[in-house]
Amino acid sequence: MEPTLFERIISREIPATFEYEDDHCVAIRDIAPAAPLHLLIIPRTPIRGIDAMADDHEQLVGHLLNVGRMLAERFGVHSSGYRLVTNVGDHGGQTVPHLHVHLLAGEPLGAMRTAHGGHSGTAIGRSAAYGGAGLLRDAGITILLVVGLAAVFNAANPRGIPWVKPTYERLAMTDAELQALLGGKPTEEYTPSTNQAANQNNTAVPSATSAGKPLANEPQQRTDPSQPADATPKGDAPKAATTPPSFQSQPGVVREIGYDAFVKVLETPHYLIDARTAEAYGKGHIAGAVNYYGGEVQMHIPAMLSSVPRDRVVVVYCDGGAECELSHHIADALKGFGYGPILIYMGGWNEWVQRGRK
Ligand code: AMP
Repeated sequence: MEPTLFERIISREIPATFEYEDDHCVAIRDIAPAAPLHLLIIPRTPIRGIDAMADDHEQLVGHLLNVGRMLAERFGVHSSGYRLVTNVGDHGGQTVPHLHVHLLAGEPLGAMRTAHGGHSGTAIGRSAAYGGAGLLRDAGITILLVVGLAAVFNAANPRGIPWVKPTYERLAMTDAELQALLGGKPTEEYTPSTNQAANQNNTAVPSATSAGKPLANEPQQRTDPSQPADATPKGDAPKAATTPPSFQSQPGVVREIGYDAFVKVLETPHYLIDARTAEAYGKGHIAGAVNYYGGEVQMHIPAMLSSVPRDRVVVVYCDGGAECELSHHIADALKGFGYGPILIYMGGWNEWVQRGRK
């Protein structure tokens, strides 16, 4: 019998990025990731799928799930949450007939979806008649509804919503937050959720992750030699990590800051990321910055997870501008892995240079 695609990957005939291996299974990166972290946990034995599982595979299948759990911990997504899923057959969406468990994480994954947008008691009966036309019709109706609702909302709302809306939230750091971050105030006074009045100039929507008191988050140092290291950051080596006594982890909190705040933060323990291209970074960058290009953030996630510390504030900058999209991409990815607080210096390299800094 022809070897399956995954057998050919396991035998190194076809290249893939391996994140884990043991006697029974391997874990590779999915070639078309459906989430910031998307791994495939594959048994070395080519079982077609769960449908072909025999009684004596029970232990192996349990092992695949256990490896998924272990990898979720290794990649720092165990507390933010993740999904372990295996597809079976045509309707299950299985495309490779070799059992595998998908590990998906790094952002809210939403509800489980079906091709027709939700469970209906008549799904089986409908399936024969429910072809592409039905799907297209449903999709069309959904799009019209969404567009119509957005138009009504925009007309009724004086501030409106942009048609092309960035997926990231935008919140400016308040003075109180900055002061707390710089170590001046006890934890209780640092309440990011109460800063909306100070953010009137932002189109900000506070998220659940940024609300309330800081959450506990144990610093995690990655020392496991099997850790991914596919993209060595270009940059000055970050200083040795000693936890600042006043540092309060704020998982998921992302704030935009201006020049004055940036300068103050630079005087405290921090980790600085330049989100511009390697070329721009090579021409000049803020001292101590490590380069991860925000336009290819997915590619840099393994390297970031193994080098960005969790016991200090992370600061990101790009060229500067109204949106600072590249920085937001980096911040969003780190946020998905439980990092925070993450600050975005909005003035970026352009303002830094304009102010005569090097
Ligand atoms: P499924 O659709 O559940 O059978 O999952 C198969 C997965 O394998 C898909 O998510 C594909 O993106 C992934 N895949 C296909 N070819 C490769 C490859 N060469 N390397 C890594 N992942 C792959």
